[in-house]
Amino acid sequence: MINRELASEIKSLMPSTKRQNDPNKPVSMWTEKDRLRGYSEPTAVVIFRTTGCSWYNFSSCSMCGYFNDISANVSIENLKKQIDSLISFIGDIKVLKVFTSGSFLDTREFPVEAREYFIQQLQGKISKLLVESRTEYITPDNLLSFTNSGIDTRVAIGLETANDDIMKNIINKGSSFKKYVKAAEVVSKLSMELRTYLLFKPLFMSEKKSINDILESIKLVSSLTEDVSINPMNIQRNTLVEKYWKKGLYRPPRLWSVAKLLLDSRNDQCEVISYPTGGNSRRGAHNDSVDKKLLELIYSSSLSQDFKELEEYYYTSDHENYDIQIELEDRMPVQHEAIAMRNRLISSDQTV
Ligand code: SF4
Repeated sequence: MINRELASEIKSLMPSTKRQNDPNKPVSMWTEKDRLRGYSEPTAVVIFRTTGCSWYNFSSCSMCGYFNDISANVSIENLKKQIDSLISFIGDIKVLKVFTSGSFLDTREFPVEAREYFIQQLQGKISKLLVESRTEYITPDNLLSFTNSGIDTRVAIGLETANDDIMKNIINKGSSFKKYVKAAEVVSKLSMELRTYLLFKPLFMSEKKSINDILESIKLVSSLTEDVSINPMNIQRNTLVEKYWKKGLYRPPRLWSVAKLLLDSRNDQCEVISYPTGGNSRRGAHNDSVDKKLLELIYSSSLSQDFKELEEYYYTSDHENYDIQIELEDRMPVQHEAIAMRNRLISSDQTV
């Protein structure tokens, strides 16, 4: 399941020296709204600083720049200090989402002793937990400490797409749909919940083709997962996606498309949400002009699962240009960021 040429191109863009970020501090902590218990409520989020995803030893996913946040050495004691910071941070919040720059369930990245300490510290404090992992670490043994803890836990998997060809030749995930299904079965047998992330508009795909891929992927996973989170591309540093974007050969998706995806998938078997990171910015999902109202409606309808207002806004707005653009883009061999291309052409004219 590996395209070696793609993997080595991605690897060549990753920083060669390991970072020396402070190992005693999480990368970040904040609160936001999510609906992990079936309704919108304040949710704490932590990104623990670790030595990073096991996949970085070989390569990385083409859109992933989380390696920018890792630290060369993070001991169990460092992780315990980060957990202590988290405990002071969460206060009365009852729902927690945990990310690392890789997999929380990878015991080389987050050793069992640190995980046990994490669970002990959180028992009785939180009611719902979400942890993220690659599929290979989702095993009954590895999930035992969560089932024993009594903390209601949802496991999140970055599937990105149910299409193995895209996963291998565009995303470089080093995984497969079959592995996802196996992991989903493990989660289900333990009566735990699953969240599935899908990546909207990977490199080398037109927006239209990616819309179809997301809708097909949702159909294939909807009976296996509690919810699907559509992640529109946001461009991270030192990634293959950034390289193409800087050359004017990639444009992040439009917010209109994110709205369309939510509207078209709202009656599927599982809940579908989208909280676009960097929405309305050049590196995130954006239309030709900033549309704060549309981004707000994407968030609010994801949180409430009530899509009436979004539907009304979508169908009463003039998005003819968008409709034309995604049709035209679909006929091009590569996906161009029109403004960057124009600037490049202007500057090359001036140098002639
Ligand atoms: S598996 Fe996750 S953390 Fe690892 S490289 Fe891919 S997106 Fe990044």
